[in-house]
Amino acid sequence: MSTPDLLPLEEARARILEDVLPLRAGAMPLAESLGRVLAEDAIALLTLPPWDNSAMDGFAVRSEDVVGASPETPVMLAVVGEVAAGHEPEVGMGERQAVRVLTGGMMPPGADAVVRVEDTDAPEGVAELPQTVAVRAAVGPNKDVRAAGSDMHQGDHLLDAGTRISPAALAVLAAAGHAQVDVHRVPRVGVIATGDELTPLGEPLGPASIPDSNSESIAAQITAAGGEPVRLGIAVDDRDIVRERLLEGILDCDVLVVTGGVSVGAHDLVKEVFTEIGSLDLWRVAIQPGKPLAYGSAPRPDGGYCLLFGLPGNPVSSFVTFELFVRPVIRRLRGEPGDQGRLVVRATLADPVRKSAARRAFVRVKLEAVESGLEARLAGGQSSHVLSSLALADGLAVIKEGPAEVPAGTEVEVIRLDVEVA
Ligand code: AMP
Ligand code: MG
Repeated sequence: MSTPDLLPLEEARARILEDVLPLRAGAMPLAESLGRVLAEDAIALLTLPPWDNSAMDGFAVRSEDVVGASPETPVMLAVVGEVAAGHEPEVGMGERQAVRVLTGGMMPPGADAVVRVEDTDAPEGVAELPQTVAVRAAVGPNKDVRAAGSDMHQGDHLLDAGTRISPAALAVLAAAGHAQVDVHRVPRVGVIATGDELTPLGEPLGPASIPDSNSESIAAQITAAGGEPVRLGIAVDDRDIVRERLLEGILDCDVLVVTGGVSVGAHDLVKEVFTEIGSLDLWRVAIQPGKPLAYGSAPRPDGGYCLLFGLPGNPVSSFVTFELFVRPVIRRLRGEPGDQGRLVVRATLADPVRKSAARRAFVRVKLEAVESGLEARLAGGQSSHVLSSLALADGLAVIKEGPAEVPAGTEVEVIRLDVEVA
């Protein structure tokens, strides 16, 4: 079932990813690191909590003093001091004594439990310290005491290298004492749209022109994949202009994505330009849509390399080939584990699909939960220029190379476009 000049998807992806290594790492302030990827395992620099402290506003007691305490049989204790969060206890506690504690306050020496203020006769929210307190509930040892080290111990492993810094990861890193973190650099990814017919958004359309939608979708896909898009505008179908724009782009980009001009038409000059400024390493993959995908690289004056992607111009083809090939490269450069970083689910086709037998098809589907699991229904027309169905789709159903007619009821995998996984 293979066509000799079309590369199978896995082979193309493996050849592209073979040489892609995470970008260099460096320290940066934690406060700026949201969304970056840890370059090293993160360990706890502190023990947290650093000392036993109170989980409640209330009174630190010796649990043995309040055995049997209840509303009917309260136990009276002498109040000998107070500990608020951020202050060291000034007193210890002896028999039948209590110390008022506020949430986060250190446990005073001698106390082993906390009675909540609600379980005493002390008025809530009153600054003045009472001389005595009636305890109306018994508490066992350690009740409402947050033990030293119950969150983390100094030296504990917290997060693996490759973790994307989420708000929650940021919280644990801050708590563990990291003001700086070692993270990978974010790749800069240039976007160039080619075609005489293209008009930038917001400019009046000529009689034979259409809006340049690829620059918008590709820039958004770059951002969503965690890269930094660099918009390089539209290049008309002229070899010198396309070459100039690419040469400009490679100067400060890690990756360049060019859309259009990669098939076999008279104006399809992108592959030639790749060869002129560097190399064309592969072209044409056995997928539908997106067959004419081109990939290469070009040396940069600084001694590095810029990876070059030529995506087919049809808007759905450029979207799908970005998803399958460029997204994994951006993730790899960012230091993330895994390739595509998408949730893949199993579903049953609710509609029949017609496709090219020799190619793997990526079909725009809407997912619906039914009793037996998930059902995948065509989101609309499947031609590679039809963006309206792409916008309605929850995912891409993957239909393997094989028969051209795939009946309804076939089990397929669906790449969820709306769910990101590590
Ligand atoms: P090409 O790959 O250059 O032959 O283009 C294939 C189809 O995609 C043509 O119908 C183009 O008009 C369309 N196309 C190419 N580039 C873009 C773009 N940037 N935005 C929208 N449509 C495009
Ligand atoms: Mg074109």
